[in-house]
Order: sequence, then C-alpha cells, then structure tokens
Amino acid sequence: MITRRIQLIAILLFCLFLGTSGVYSAAQDFANVQIQTMKVADNIFMLVGGGGNIGVSAGKDCVFMIDASYAPLTDNIKAAIATVSNKPIQFIINTHWHQDHPGGNENFAKSGAFLVAHENVGKRLSTEQYIDFLKKTVPPLPASALPAITFNEHMTFHLNGDEIYIFHIERVHTDGDAIVHFRKSNVIHMGDIYFNGIYPFIDLSAGGSISGMIAAVKQVLTLCNGNTKVIPGHGPLSDKTGLEAYLKMLITVRDRIDHVIKEGKNLDAVIASRPTRDFDQAWGKGFLKPEQFVRIVYDSLVKEKSQAQYHRKIEFVL
Ligand SMILES: [Zn+2]
Repeated sequence: MITRRIQLIAILLFCLFLGTSGVYSAAQDFANVQIQTMKVADNIFMLVGGGGNIGVSAGKDCVFMIDASYAPLTDNIKAAIATVSNKPIQFIINTHWHQDHPGGNENFAKSGAFLVAHENVGKRLSTEQYIDFLKKTVPPLPASALPAITFNEHMTFHLNGDEIYIFHIERVHTDGDAIVHFRKSNVIHMGDIYFNGIYPFIDLSAGGSISGMIAAVKQVLTLCNGNTKVIPGHGPLSDKTGLEAYLKMLITVRDRIDHVIKEGKNLDAVIASRPTRDFDQAWGKGFLKPEQFVRIVYDSLVKEKSQAQYHRKIEFVL
C-alpha cells in the first residue's frame, strides 16, 4: 500500500516535470515525498519517491549513484542512502537530461560527487532546450551542475567489487541515454528507455525514436537471464519477463500504426483505429493518455520515414 502511494507520488512529480515551465519553486509539492529504499541485489538499491528511479551501488569503495532526481529532494535522498552506507557519494551518472533525473546534480556535486553523462547530455544541460510535445522551454543548468566526465559509446567503472558497464544507444528516449549494467550483480538500470506499467514518453525533439526504443529493449534483453533485476526510469522494479511484456506492447503498437500509415491514412485515422486497444488496461493509466502515446509513435514513424527518404535522395545524387 505504501509502495503504491509512493509510486503515485513519483508519477505525480513526473507530471510536474511534464507540466511546469521548468522551475521547481513549489516546495510544497515535494514536502510530502518519502524516499523508499529497496534492496535489489547484495549492494544495489533502488530509491523511489520522486523524479526518476535512482539506482545506488553501495560497497567497500564508495556510493555510486544513477540519477539525482529533483533538487529539493537531495536531503531526503542523502538520508535514505545513509541508512545503507556511510561511504561518500563519489559518482553520479545521469541517464539523460530531463530534469527529473539530473535536478539534484548541483547539490551532490557541491558535496564532492563527480557527475558523469553521455556527451549529448552535457550539451543539452548547458543550453536552453525546447520539448516540442510539451511545448515547454527548459533553461540551462549552471556550470556546477554539468557533467565533469562525459563518454560517447561506453565506459566501465570498477568499483564495489562490481564491473559497472555504461553504454549508449542512439536515438532512444532522447539522443543521450545511458544504460547501466552491473555485470556481477546482474542488475540493469535503463533510465527512461523503460517505463514500467505506463506508456513511455519519447522525446522526439531531443532525438528520441520509437525504433530506437525497440532496438534498445531488444539489446538489453540479450543481457538478461531469469535472475536479472531491471530498474526502470519510472514504475516498479522489473525483470526479464516484465521487459518482454513491454517490448511486445511497443512492437505491436508500432506495427499497427505503421500499417495504417502505409495505407496512406493520416493521424486521425490512426487514432480511430485504436492501435493500443488491448494494452490500455495495463499501460494506459499513467501520465500519457493512450491517444498521446499513439501521437508520439505516429510522429516518430513519420519522421523516420522522411529521414530515410531524404537519405535515399542524397545517395541518389551522390
Ligand atoms: Zn525522461
């Protein structure tokens, strides 16, 4: 019951990210947030309760964190981590640039943590951004909140007795997503490539795509076995079976929409065909209504087709 309530608050705060103009001044929105700490593996924890789900590796060397949620929650997050480790928080990897993930960056950096992210995250956090689907402008973060260490394709941390492999896949939820694989602990944090139990937001204006989402989920599944724990960016802790169900939903909805587009029909016809009909009961009760998710997938496919056409033309000219 408490978990359910915390999940609802987390979704509510994600809606805050979707709905506000980018300034988290409403302190009262965070006042009731409780951070719940869940043990995922021997020294891996998942923190839920505000913003994106946080992953924590707490071992003999230090605390290694994945994402930093919203800035007003930093003290609560530190208190939650202090219950499982007395080591310093040394590294924070941002899974992507949306504010509910790096919002606390500056606070943690001031306490001595090194910020790590894909190089496109650094670029987007340091400049004003516009999220087209939300009609929302996001101001840049101060220099002290930007990653000190960036990577392009992959990097590995050898800490806490684990091999922490971080890799990037192009054009997924954004153009700067990082997936974190704790190889020895058999835990994978997927950031917002995985929304468990709710239709996913795909930020097309920041380089995201439905095809990238599907490709990334397929790739992560190749790393999973029956014991793998999968931490989603939003929603409850998951596993291989949960991720397979998510993949099935993504592929089915994508294929149905693609089919209607190939018949030469427009968005209204796509929506009228109700391509999410048998998934709405399980996935349609989050912040994205089924119709909004359909619109995102439709826009993504149209964009991908026009880009493919453009590249074909260029090849023809060359
Ligand atoms: Zn996001």
